[in-house]
Amino acid sequence: MRSPILELESAIAAAPYRIAPEREQELGDWCDVEGVFLDIVDQPGFTFHVYPLEKKIQTSIASLEFLWSTTYVHLVLYDEYAQAQERGEDAFDTGGTQRSAAAIDLAKWAVGNIFGSGKQPWPDNFVRPIAEPVHHSDVHVANELFLSAFAWIMHHELAHIRLGHGVAITSRSQEEEKEADVAATRWILEKCHDSKQLQKRTYGVVAAILSLKAIASPGTRDVLQTHPPTFERIDYCLSEAGIDDDNEAYAFAACIMQIQLASRGVSVAHDGSSFKEIFSEYLIEFSKLFR
Ligand SMILES: [Zn+2]
Repeated sequence: MRSPILELESAIAAAPYRIAPEREQELGDWCDVEGVFLDIVDQPGFTFHVYPLEKKIQTSIASLEFLWSTTYVHLVLYDEYAQAQERGEDAFDTGGTQRSAAAIDLAKWAVGNIFGSGKQPWPDNFVRPIAEPVHHSDVHVANELFLSAFAWIMHHELAHIRLGHGVAITSRSQEEEKEADVAATRWILEKCHDSKQLQKRTYGVVAAILSLKAIASPGTRDVLQTHPPTFERIDYCLSEAGIDDDNEAYAFAACIMQIQLASRGVSVAHDGSSFKEIFSEYLIEFSKLFR
């Protein structure tokens, strides 16, 4: 097999439907009428493109590998951060355990690959996606979160078609990107009434946007400059989700933001009283960095 990510290929193809089973029929009918299809190519660079005229949404093996790997590292770091807090530790070492060090190595490999040939084999002995992992293992949780994140990105691309947005990828406005974000978030959340399901899907939205953040290095600025700043995207998507201020999705986002701020040499002692307030404080710190 070209890549272990392809062990999940049928789940990947089904993900936009499975994320919101209550709208499966609606989505299927619309895709049939429009003739929309997913095209997975094998090329370097971060690829999530929609071609409205051809009704094609294109991604790449390297991009899927990247999305899985960054999702994996974010969830491992979040879990370890929570454990450190429970132990009452005031400092958190991101690569301090074998588990987190391995996760970071994997994410570094995936980033290097996407900017390199895009065709490097998944390194031996590295943690990897498998079709049927042990229930509740890190790989199992990563698979689920990856599929939710992928589904949300697909719904973002589908929204560009549905909303009749411009044909050229480069000329799309931030306004159109925000519309697609909001439409994708609504699609997967608005007709769901199961709180556990809602939570899982909301984590998927956050995981997707956090991964997109990880690709926003200088080399890809031209690709990503049309999109609104990452953490603002999380902010308005979570507002759209209508979750309460102490929802763990805010904690997840805030934790990864704090780790990213720390890696840029900014340490902030937060005094927010809810996860949303803490998230908002980090949002402000981030905006200061780019002023
Ligand atoms: Zn877009």
